[in-house]
Amino acid sequence: MTEEAEYDVAVIGYGPTGVTAANLLGALGLRVAVIERDAEIFTRARAISTDEEVLRVWQRIGLADRLKLDMLGDLPLEFVDAKGEPFLCAHPVPRGHGHPPQMFIYQPALEEVLREGVERYPNVELLLERECLRVVQDEGGVELTLVHTGEDTVRRLRARYVIAADGGSSLTRAQLNIGYEGRTYEDRWVVIDTEMLEPWEGHDRLRFHCDPARPAVDCPTPLGHHRWEFPILHGEDEKELVTDAAIWRLLSRYGITAANVKILRATVYSHHVRFADRFRVGRVFLAGDAAHAMPPWIGQGMAAGVRDAANLCWKLAAVLRGELPDSVLDSRPPRRARSSTRPAFCSPGWTAARPRRPCCARTATSTPQPPRPRPYPPRPRASSPVQPRGTNDDDHTGPP
Ligand SMILES: Cc1cc2nc3c(=O)[nH]c(=O)nc-3n(C[C@H](O)[C@H](O)[C@H](O)COP(=O)(O)OP(=O)(O)OC[C@H]3O[C@@H](n4cnc5c(N)ncnc54)[C@H](O)[C@@H]3O)c2cc1C
Repeated sequence: MTEEAEYDVAVIGYGPTGVTAANLLGALGLRVAVIERDAEIFTRARAISTDEEVLRVWQRIGLADRLKLDMLGDLPLEFVDAKGEPFLCAHPVPRGHGHPPQMFIYQPALEEVLREGVERYPNVELLLERECLRVVQDEGGVELTLVHTGEDTVRRLRARYVIAADGGSSLTRAQLNIGYEGRTYEDRWVVIDTEMLEPWEGHDRLRFHCDPARPAVDCPTPLGHHRWEFPILHGEDEKELVTDAAIWRLLSRYGITAANVKILRATVYSHHVRFADRFRVGRVFLAGDAAHAMPPWIGQGMAAGVRDAANLCWKLAAVLRGELPDSVLDSRPPRRARSSTRPAFCSPGWTAARPRRPCCARTATSTPQPPRPRPYPPRPRASSPVQPRGTNDDDHTGPP
């Protein structure tokens, strides 16, 4: 382990975090290896929205304008009641970053453009279908053991630093014995992606359906797509819920039929709130979902990974060039992702769509009412907030 490193930085994982890091490091002129287990982009659509801070990062690598061609911006957001009547509306207000504050995306298309961006850099070597199985470091660098998943061959490479952007189930995080504390919510959601065929009333806005019987999210996504998300109720069969028959049943509640949309895919997800207990061990840095996971509600999971990449890459370049001390790499705020929730919700632009019923509407003199049944109560929480290992069915978002 004393030989010269072949690469300045090895990036494990080529999701949105890894591909952003590859672009940034490529533009900085570093020798980079990108290691990705899969042959193709992961097509199961996940992220549907992002913000202007993320676009500023992609602007830095010259891709914002191209990416925005495949995004929808300036769409209103509504909270509607069980009858579909809006009671709270928002139109996110620009905050002076030069991009709309919320942009709707189609993650596979976005990743494709980011990957095309990496092709500009001959100094970035792409190793697809390679799974990184082992990371061993010494004073001078890190040795990675890769298995070619198609050919079953093994290769070792050496880099001075490693960015582990290998997702929520990060093998690197496990190897480094880094905890991933937090909680996994017991409620699970079925996420349905569709291709829009015939528009319907309200198709052009993000709507949170606040129906106590079964809340729902419906959201336009670019390139002719539309996303639906529904919680799974007690006693429902998850396998049945992803069949076409069940999906049409769910969508028909909102008047959506086969004339409106074509079903592309349906997946059941758990939502996590987790943080790695360290983001750095020696020369290895966790980034993206490998370092933190959050529920999708405010569209900040991928965004936080992009910010990680932006935070790390210029520092790595400066340290590798001897311009800054290694200690600058410790300056990444440990709870960075947590603060990212604030701007998303605190932006101005919220308006009540109709006068709110005062909280004191039910007075002591009003006729006593029997308690209303709540068909969608939150389930009782498990006594241990940590989900047992191996119970998540989606290793791209869940802990191992
Ligand atoms: C339903 C849903 C909706 C969401 N909505 C939003 C949203 O609106 N906005 C938002 O910002 N975020 C959203 N997210 C979160 C977002 O999708 C993730 O945060 C983001 O994809 C994480 O990117 P990543 O690059 O860190 O990890 P990933 O995308 O998981 O990529 C990790 C990559 O590493 C590879 N890999 C893993 N292990 C190895 C190994 N040992 N060797 C080599 N390669 C390896 C994997 O194949 C994968 O390609 C949503 C997530 C879900 C599930």
